[in-house]
Amino acid sequence: MLEACHRYFHDAASVLGLSDDVREILVTPKRVVKVELVVEGDDGRLLHHQGFRVQHNDARGPFKGGLRYHPSMDEDHAAALANLMTWKTAVVDVPFGGAKGGIDCDPADLSRTELDALTRAFVDQMKEVIGPTLDIPAPDVNTNGEVMAWIMDQYSRHEGFSPGVVTGKPVHLFGSLGRDEATGRGVMYTAREALTSMGRALSDVTVALQGFGNVGSHAARLMAEQGATIVAVADHGGGVSKADGLDVTALVAWVAEHRTVAGFPGGDAFDGQGIMAWDCDVLVPAALEDSIHADNVGDVKASLIVEGANAPTTPEASAVLHKRGVLVVPDILANAGGVTVSYFEWAQNIQQFRWELVRVVTELEKTMVRAYADVATIAQEKQIDMRTAAFVLGIKRVGQAALSRRALKRQISMD
Ligand code: NAD
Repeated sequence: MLEACHRYFHDAASVLGLSDDVREILVTPKRVVKVELVVEGDDGRLLHHQGFRVQHNDARGPFKGGLRYHPSMDEDHAAALANLMTWKTAVVDVPFGGAKGGIDCDPADLSRTELDALTRAFVDQMKEVIGPTLDIPAPDVNTNGEVMAWIMDQYSRHEGFSPGVVTGKPVHLFGSLGRDEATGRGVMYTAREALTSMGRALSDVTVALQGFGNVGSHAARLMAEQGATIVAVADHGGGVSKADGLDVTALVAWVAEHRTVAGFPGGDAFDGQGIMAWDCDVLVPAALEDSIHADNVGDVKASLIVEGANAPTTPEASAVLHKRGVLVVPDILANAGGVTVSYFEWAQNIQQFRWELVRVVTELEKTMVRAYADVATIAQEKQIDMRTAAFVLGIKRVGQAALSRRALKRQISMD
């Protein structure tokens, strides 16, 4: 995945005509932290894991990015995702840089108390490099508001009351109204903007989604509310479909109880693997990376792909889709609603002032619509695909900020 992120970076850097030294500075993480975590399990066993935090760039503000608890988490994963965060925060123009991290564990194998202990051990080891004006983690795959609450509590034990050290906290513990659904809401807004550019509307399209966790379930619900027909959903356990539209509210309730869409009685079961080839207008990958690749891209039937997940499309597949005229709203634009409302949450924490939901939703919509238009304008002007255009915008904003921080002897253009 790191290779893919670098490839996208260099494609955009070439459009901007950046020299090798500037590329090198922009693509290299500022700090990489790897820590050993040892905690006692419920049965007295010693649990041994590794924690990671890659702080990629802070030219535009404190490092910002999620924490992922997954067996595949390692330094390269964190580096790739941190890299994406840097360009993402710049695309939506929130005053943050980019970071990512996590623990190489599977929470399904751990009790709540073990997870709590592991999270607190992570904070103990990372407390010098995170903080409300330094690096602000947030939820990602397999982490949630509860984990963020534990982080806030542990960090506050060391440093004093610090709600701004993490975002995505529960609403009753300094979280923001609307944060939970923010990424899915951003996916809905960018899908709407893309469809408008195609002369279509959410009310007349069919949608298939891979992933029905935080991002996928809210995106499906909000798109259905706008009149879209959700024809198929797949997750780690299998898939379910219904030609005239799944009842998303009932599916959310089913998943809350059964942890998977598989077995949902309100549709037909299918092998979740086939989701990318589903006959639909809009495809939303909202699970893990590399879901659309060289071997299945030829089967994609959707004319619009909105990347809810990070890095769900390999560079090879991305090139094929562009050639075929499939419009792809890239991850660093499509799923940026989460970090946008994280910024609102952080601002509320700093100001000790709570926003009403309507303000969060209105500001989020404005941000996503503006970001979509900014990226679409670059794509149009430079005759490039939306992904390269989003990287061009992100790199330009980060590069300008980085270069303005020091007196350089030579002029470096970011146009
Ligand atoms: P989540 O843990 O809530 O949900 C993940 C979903 O993916 C689940 O439905 C799971 O069953 C499914 N999944 C896992 N492995 C799968 C597989 N092999 N095949 C099919 N489905 C599979 O995670 P999330 O927070 O919804 O994140 C999903 C993606 O969105 C990730 O790429 C994440 O980095 C990205 N993202 C999340 C946020 C956020 O605010 N949560 C923000 C930006 C980007």
